[in-house]
Amino acid sequence: MRDLVVSTDADAPVRILDGVSLDVRSGRTTALIGESGSGKSILGSAVMGLLPDTMSAQGEIVFDDRQVLGIPERQRRALRGRWVAMIFQDPLAALNPSQRIGRQVGELLRRGGLRGKALEEGVVRLLARVGVPRPEERAHAFPHQLSGGLRQRAVIAMALSGGPRLLIADEPTTALDVTVQKRILDLLAEMQRDDGIAILFISHDLRVVSHIADDLVVLYAGRVAESGPARSVLSKPLHPYTRALARSVPSVSAASAVSDPIPGTAASPAARPSGCAFHPRCPLAREICRRETPQPREVVPGRVSACHFAEEFLDD
Ligand code: SF4
Ligand code: MG
Repeated sequence: MRDLVVSTDADAPVRILDGVSLDVRSGRTTALIGESGSGKSILGSAVMGLLPDTMSAQGEIVFDDRQVLGIPERQRRALRGRWVAMIFQDPLAALNPSQRIGRQVGELLRRGGLRGKALEEGVVRLLARVGVPRPEERAHAFPHQLSGGLRQRAVIAMALSGGPRLLIADEPTTALDVTVQKRILDLLAEMQRDDGIAILFISHDLRVVSHIADDLVVLYAGRVAESGPARSVLSKPLHPYTRALARSVPSVSAASAVSDPIPGTAASPAARPSGCAFHPRCPLAREICRRETPQPREVVPGRVSACHFAEEFLDD
């Protein structure tokens, strides 16, 4: 993705995403992290080709050297499920309450031409693949008859059924309790290992992503604040916002033992401060920060930061 801009089509258009570039590689998990309202979910919708009618996108979303932004909806629909699939926070919202699980999980298989016994076996295989116990029985259940964890597994089975190369997971474990969360994350990691799927994992929770992310992209008010390999970003953030985020979650930052919340409230794209959008909350803000918008740039190989003073953090 290069320079993705998503704006509202109102008289006074708002750039919800303002020039976002990121890569998601096969067999790797890129975590997109940011506070609520930073534009994370909109980015997921843009990749899916499912932006609301009131928004439009410019820039590049490239898959296998092919630009998919702006192609006709019919072609886009063909890519959904087979190229890119998405799972959401609330599995209930993704499932049809009046349809049996097996029918929903088998939808793409059926559209691909499978029928009868072959279709049934395909569904059972998918449910078994995502760790649903007694899949033959569960295929006949309705969504409300399953636990939250099993429902999310069924949704993952649906997402996998088209053999996607990219899976977008938007806060997929937020609604689940901690042990179930952990199992779902293990499942995603296992699928990735076995199938080489690329995962774009959207979350506001640095603690969750620190366990699973290979690469990290930190979004602030619809712009990339920082990106790079997760381990190196977390151990040596090159942007004050990432530093503050890491410090607000003690378990991911070796440098602090106590949680230290970020002062102030998150800037929204609709009321983005001038210059560096983070400046009203930044303890290191100087005069230039109010005037000039820092562009994301490679500070050291593989490490991108959009802070005017990123170099100063290198030898901290
Ligand atoms: Fe802080 Fe300035 Fe860097 Fe923005 S550019 S993060 S305000 S120091
Ligand atoms: Mg969201």
